[in-house]
Amino acid sequence: MLKMMDTYARQPVTFEKGEGVWLWAKDGKKYLDALSGVAVNGLGHAHPKLVKAIHEQVSKLIHVSNVYHIAEQEKLAEKLTAISHMDNVFFCNSGCEANEASIKLARLYGHQNGIETPEIIVMEKAFHGRTMATLSATGNRKSQAGFEPLVGGFIRAAYDDLEAVQQIASRKNNVIAILVEPIQGEGGINIPSNIQNYLKGLREICDQHNWLLMLDEVQCGIGRTGKWFAHQHTSIKPDVMTLAKGLGSGVPIGACLARGKASHVFTPGKHGSTFGGNPLATAAGFATLNIIEEEKLCNHASKMGALINEEFTKQLKDCLQVKGVRNLGLMVGIELDQPCGDLTKLALEEGLLINVTAEKVIRLLPALIINEAEARELTVRLSKVIKAFLAK
Ligand SMILES: *Cc1c(COP(=O)(O)O)cnc(C)c1O
Repeated sequence: MLKMMDTYARQPVTFEKGEGVWLWAKDGKKYLDALSGVAVNGLGHAHPKLVKAIHEQVSKLIHVSNVYHIAEQEKLAEKLTAISHMDNVFFCNSGCEANEASIKLARLYGHQNGIETPEIIVMEKAFHGRTMATLSATGNRKSQAGFEPLVGGFIRAAYDDLEAVQQIASRKNNVIAILVEPIQGEGGINIPSNIQNYLKGLREICDQHNWLLMLDEVQCGIGRTGKWFAHQHTSIKPDVMTLAKGLGSGVPIGACLARGKASHVFTPGKHGSTFGGNPLATAAGFATLNIIEEEKLCNHASKMGALINEEFTKQLKDCLQVKGVRNLGLMVGIELDQPCGDLTKLALEEGLLINVTAEKVIRLLPALIINEAEARELTVRLSKVIKAFLAK
């Protein structure tokens, strides 16, 4: 019996080392990693420039308290606000913590504006994390079951449905924010039918009512969709944006960025984190962003995403059970007409790491550095596995 709590149904493999999009198991078998630790290893495994930056930082300073100035943190804050056009940032250690910060920020903003019981609009099929508040904000009854009482103060609306949000606006006067993923990840790689219209519509409703527009870019941010941030496919800017996953390339880090009126809400003592923004994590984040920039990985992700979509569409065109292939950059979903959780195991046997989410959606989040040959190899291996699965 393993001495860890039983929170994961683990695949039967242990990895020993990685390089680029490749991982090697203890028995020597080589795997193509199309999951990247769930959108974390954007630079692939063991990127030499990242390894060097982390080595150098570890030998100087790993951690000091936030009661002092931290040079690496200031550098990362400078860089993040420059590429996002946000004003400032709070650093933490994960996606759920970044969202917790945004929820606290929104509530405080409500109280500062005379609203005693502020509420936040969240979406169906949303995923915001596993802490009590972010689990309550998450739109999946299965993951909430057994953890009641949930945290109050959230109102649910259908995703990609401006009318649903308008209706809430017309009957409620204590709403203070919308928290939404520009593209839903765990919910099944759900891309709004028109991302520009959807986010612009949400922006307009927020402006009309003095609400904060808060974007959870924990999965879709950091180059994943072919732009630094998914909302940069549109003309709007959020008031708050949360990041984590790809930001530290595997060194745990989260960030909650704010702009304009949202950037003055927190004052000393209102929020904090012991590890948040420590020298190691922020040095990893800073190196990650610089490497993405130097190697033009946003643009590259966009091209590889298009190639992968095109290849799957071609190779799977005769499979009637494949409902569709969709992507924005390297956030790729292949939806089947049936539950397909077993595909992860079958793919593993073929030397391929994938994930299935929302029961019927194969989710691919390959590293931004994946090259053309590897992208093609991925589609060949997976198409074969899908066809074998569907033939059964
Ligand atoms: C993964 C994820 C989270 C939670 O991040 P953790 O680091 O696991 O806490 C929150 N929001 C979105 C959109 C995510 O994909």
